[in-house]
Parts: sequence; C-alpha cells; structure tokens
Amino acid sequence: MELMSISPKNPMAGRRPTSLSVRSGMSGRSVGVDSGRARSFIALRGRLLASPTLAGALDFMQVTTRPWEPHELRAWLNDHVLAPGWMKAPRAVREPGAPTVALCALDEQPEAVAALTARARERVTNVLLDFVAPDPDGRHRRAALYSARVRWNAVGDRSGWLPAPRESDFLSDIVLSLFAAEILSGAEIYQRHMTVCVGCGRVAFAQDARPLTAGCPRCDGEVRWRAPQA
Ligand SMILES: [Zn+2]
Repeated sequence: MELMSISPKNPMAGRRPTSLSVRSGMSGRSVGVDSGRARSFIALRGRLLASPTLAGALDFMQVTTRPWEPHELRAWLNDHVLAPGWMKAPRAVREPGAPTVALCALDEQPEAVAALTARARERVTNVLLDFVAPDPDGRHRRAALYSARVRWNAVGDRSGWLPAPRESDFLSDIVLSLFAAEILSGAEIYQRHMTVCVGCGRVAFAQDARPLTAGCPRCDGEVRWRAPQA
C-alpha cells in the first residue's frame, strides 16, 4: 500500500490515518518482519501527516510531471518557503544548467521557469534516489541531502530540524532543505519505506517491500527503494 499526495495547504486535513487500511495490508500475513514494517509504517504516516515541510517538498515533486508555470512556482514559494518564514524572498530563482529568473520577472519568462523547475526536480530526484538506493559512485549526491541547510530548533520540550535555506540557494537546494528537515530526523524510517521513481521523481511510501517488477504508476518508470535486510 502507498501513501502520498498530502494536501499541501493543510496537511492535517489531508489523509487521516486509516487504521482499517493499515490492518487490511497486514491481513493474512505472518507476524515478524511484516509486523515490524507495519509498525514503522504507522509511525511514518503519523510523521507525514504532521509535517508541513515534507508536504511542501512532496508538493514540489508530485503535483505534476510537467514543468511548472510561473504562477505555480510563485505559489509554491509563497506557501511553503516564504510564508512559514524559512527564508526571505529571493531576488532571483536559480538552478544550475537553467537560466536565472528574477522573482519579479517570473511571469515574463515562462519558458525559463519551466526549464528551471524541471532541472530542479531532476536534481532533487537524483539526490533522493541516492538516499534510498545508494550506488557506489553516489557519495557526493548523498552528501547533498545530508548537507542540505537545516537548523536545530529547541523551544521548551519541543525540538527538531527546521529548513534553513538561503536566498542565494538554488531552487533544488531549497526543496532539499524541506526534505532534509523532516527526513534526517528519522532517516531510518524513511529509508525503509520511501520509494523514488527514476523516470519522473515521484516519491511514495510503501508499507511492504515492493516487488521487483512494480513500475511507477505515473510514468511506468523504474521505482527504486532500499531493499529490506533479510
Ligand atoms: Zn515515474
């Protein structure tokens, strides 16, 4: 079973945990490894629903496979980066291999915005792929997630990582800081259940270890995940 596409505007109003569907996923199975996965998946679902930063990161990756239009990029930046106060409005949006676009000129350069968001999505996909299924040559990409800008925040008895992107960061780095703030506080649980599509970057969460033949439901591309330890 899978869980994805949390409502980005209000993650708590999205999918509520449905113990029924989690139980149905376990029916007919023997306990043991499966029950361990089921428990950690329930824990993961709680985190997904409670994390607006992850909702923002997923929104960037899931909302569509086509490159974004200017108003979509502007809305995403406003809702998930500027409104929560993770950083001030950048003067320009940048991404390696794509033209830099001034924030005030997004609407006049839809083609550049499309190229920029597509490149950013591609880079985030590569970093996440290497997080869930590292290859021997992927050291620098793995480092990209672990070195994403986050900061430790402790207020009273609540503490955790928060995104800390800077105005000069690439768009992909901003997205990665949202992912990292949530994922790095529970890396093991995410590595266990997170799947990433090589073709389109779709991120999903699976309770069960996926069969090797399962393709991406969005693009039929190869889906990678961390193979469970026997
Ligand atoms: Zn796909």
